[in-house]
Amino acid sequence: MVELNFNKGDYVRLRLALEEIDGQVLESPESDIVLLKLKSGYNIGIKKENILGARVLRKYNEEKAKFLKREERKELPSIGLIITGGTIASKASQATGGVKPITDVDEFLNYYPELLKIVNIKKLEIPFMVFSENMTSEHWIKIAECAEKMLNDDNIKGIIITHGTDTLGYSAAALSFFLRNLNKPVVLTYAQRSIDRASSDASLNLQCAARMAISDCAEVVLVGHANVNDNFCYAIRGTRARKLHSSRRDAFKSVNEKPIAKVWKDKIEFISQYKRSDENRKVELDLAYSDKVALLKFYPGQDSSILDYYALKYKGLVIEGFGLGQINESWIPKLKKHIKNGLVICMTSQTIFGEVNPYVYSSAREIERAGVIYLGNMLAETAFVKLGWVLGHYGWKMRVREKMLENFAGEISERIEFERESELY
Ligand code: GLU
Repeated sequence: MVELNFNKGDYVRLRLALEEIDGQVLESPESDIVLLKLKSGYNIGIKKENILGARVLRKYNEEKAKFLKREERKELPSIGLIITGGTIASKASQATGGVKPITDVDEFLNYYPELLKIVNIKKLEIPFMVFSENMTSEHWIKIAECAEKMLNDDNIKGIIITHGTDTLGYSAAALSFFLRNLNKPVVLTYAQRSIDRASSDASLNLQCAARMAISDCAEVVLVGHANVNDNFCYAIRGTRARKLHSSRRDAFKSVNEKPIAKVWKDKIEFISQYKRSDENRKVELDLAYSDKVALLKFYPGQDSSILDYYALKYKGLVIEGFGLGQINESWIPKLKKHIKNGLVICMTSQTIFGEVNPYVYSSAREIERAGVIYLGNMLAETAFVKLGWVLGHYGWKMRVREKMLENFAGEISERIEFERESELY
């Protein structure tokens, strides 16, 4: 094996049997692997035993690199960055073999030099560092508070929020409701593979997120890989984003509507209608939220007595029914009783795609007549967050149905086409 005389950060040329590869040396999670960041932003791991020669093309200058990161780069558009944790802000831990959060901002930015060529990070906040399965509505509120301050700063064009994927859809929905009168882009992004791993998806996601954050789209969107290739991303409306794969880079899909845009590192193609930004507008926080809501997946044979439990603890319940919004008819008496006593019950579909429609089968008509609110083509997770937000507004107490069916952030199609009933047969 040849001796490798380079250090972390150096820009090197490695000679392999069939090719030469140039890139920057990253800290490798495994001692027998050299991890290189390629010019494309893609990371690859190369087994040391396969390296036939190595030449340092540029030595890493730590002082200069630090200066580059912290310097205000006024020639570039300014954004705000909110880091909340997740894989995108983690690296492999040699001790455990798993990934652990990066707590040093410089180290985080060090992995993403491409980002600093697109935008100037004018403000940076780390309200907390958690994996997203540990988040609660309090975390959504903290993110919204940081976002509001940045969005109402005249020097900032838009913001990027990095976040774990597991509950990203919920946070995106919460921000879509909490940030009213939105004036600029709010772009959530993620990584499925940590940034020090070969084939990390983080770099492309972040660069495309930066491109979106300086666009004229005043919506909460999620930007991430459009497919398994490392070439472009989709921007998906925050109320329509659903994680549909546990590990693929293109884990998120836009449900029941087209993505807002295709985003490359250097350009955007808008493919749907979107709300335009207006720097004279000020975003307003509307953080009224009640945690007394629950999400229930119906399954064959489920006993309706579960409703007694929910009625005791909660003010609102979203059911994920079957298909068009079906659940066992034997539930109707309990539904009637608890709705009469004040529990708000909404219906969505566990099919994810499509809409619920109570006018096809007579049992669903009866369920609807019992007072269950059928939520059209709204995602169940979005409905859950929205119900907490609607119930948090005490002034809307008598208007919960109307508010759940009002379109605040693209979460429900304006016109649910029940007349398409005949097409269903
Ligand atoms: N489960 C963690 C989270 O959602 C890590 C996975 C990820 O970042 O996607 O934060």
